Amino acid sequence: MPPKPNARPLRVLVVGAGVGGISVARGLLQDGHDVTVYEQRPQVRAAGGAVTIWPNGAAVLRQLGVSMDGAGQTLSTVRVVTSTGRRLTTLDAAAIADRMGAPVRMVPRRILLARLLAGFPAERIRCNSRAVGVTSTPTGVQLEFEDDGWADGDLVIGADGLHSMVRDIVGGRDAEPTGWCSWQGLITLPEIADKQVAMVMVGDHGNLGLWPAGGRDLQFWFDLPWSVGFVRPKDPLSLIRSSFTGWSDRADRVLATLTDDDLAPSPYPHFRHPIPRSPGLGAVTLLGDAAHTMPPTLAQGTNQALLDTMVLRKALSDCRTGDLAAALRWYEKTRRRKVRAVSWVASRQVSHGEAVLRPAAMLSDRFMTWTLTMFLRAVSHRRMWATRE
Ligand SMILES: Cc1cc2nc3c(=O)[nH]c(=O)nc-3n(C[C@H](O)[C@H](O)[C@H](O)COP(=O)(O)OP(=O)(O)OC[C@H]3O[C@@H](n4cnc5c(N)ncnc54)[C@H](O)[C@@H]3O)c2cc1C
Repeated sequence: MPPKPNARPLRVLVVGAGVGGISVARGLLQDGHDVTVYEQRPQVRAAGGAVTIWPNGAAVLRQLGVSMDGAGQTLSTVRVVTSTGRRLTTLDAAAIADRMGAPVRMVPRRILLARLLAGFPAERIRCNSRAVGVTSTPTGVQLEFEDDGWADGDLVIGADGLHSMVRDIVGGRDAEPTGWCSWQGLITLPEIADKQVAMVMVGDHGNLGLWPAGGRDLQFWFDLPWSVGFVRPKDPLSLIRSSFTGWSDRADRVLATLTDDDLAPSPYPHFRHPIPRSPGLGAVTLLGDAAHTMPPTLAQGTNQALLDTMVLRKALSDCRTGDLAAALRWYEKTRRRKVRAVSWVASRQVSHGEAVLRPAAMLSDRFMTWTLTMFLRAVSHRRMWATRE
């Protein structure tokens, strides 16, 4: 998406080198803009286990020229059952992939970030640069850093995640906890029987997921209630075992293998913030979790950050000199309705007792697969998928 002939390359300051920041920087560099990414940490690194890349996110990665060949594990099936093993639905991930033209893939975060960084000019990332302020100047915007340094640009993209500083500056509301958290990570098992089959189990007071992530790696998550003031138990494994033992043989095998070390980075509290009518201001906009933190229920957060990248590239490619703020507002408006729908669905309560879940089990697997496919298509700006790679 190169700028139109009458557009000029922009000096773009990206705050945050997560998947959102790196993907938008990669895309805008390809489009001929002058992009620098500022990251507060000493190096770019991916925290956490694996993420699901759905066909909507995969389409953007393809546009960005990021090869995902051989990364992680493609999935054919997602089985959803109750905590006693009663079938709720079986999603046909292979059919979703066929209809949407890209696989459903579980990818360790470090691999996704490494693929995004392949061929990315390292000098375009400034680590140890914690941004603390943004001000307007007569020629654009200025980003200020903790060490009293600054950088001048035409626009600032706040891709600084869940507790975004840039969101504070544009007057966005803080993300709020949903009351749940995930104890989550990647473990390596001696063998994984059904490598293409992911499993979700829904219980009265918690849920679990076991998703193959490539080779002998398995992504596990155990969702339990969480509240502000939560005190992490000294022995979290006992909490997890007492909540989930006996749900299934597969889950019991994982529980027997898990160690407290595997749970060390957990729990990850779930957050959501209301998506504002206009999440940007002047030459400042937001992207990824900074714009729309949502619970991981639909595994869409990363995919939505990638879609932000696609739409923002389009907005800036159409932008003429002087229309920058209008282009950014167009990007925000174009994304808002779709991302709101995703965030709303992702925020529905999953955990329920068997009696409440029984009606859901009456819907056919085909219908549920079709519904999810239609939903993903509806929220993914598909007309923008077919742009040059
Ligand atoms: C338990 C859990 C499971 C999930 N599973 C999935 C999944 O399966 N699929 C999926 O699509 N999504 C999933 N998500 C969501 C996904 O992790 C996020 O949506 C995604 O990482 C957001 O990327 P981001 O780049 O916007 O933010 P981040 O990855 O948070 O990156 C923000 C970056 O900004 C930096 N930063 C912050 N403040 C500053 C500052 N002031 N100055 C400079 N740098 C700064 C940070 O250090 C960080 O590197 C999950 C989330 C959770 C909690």
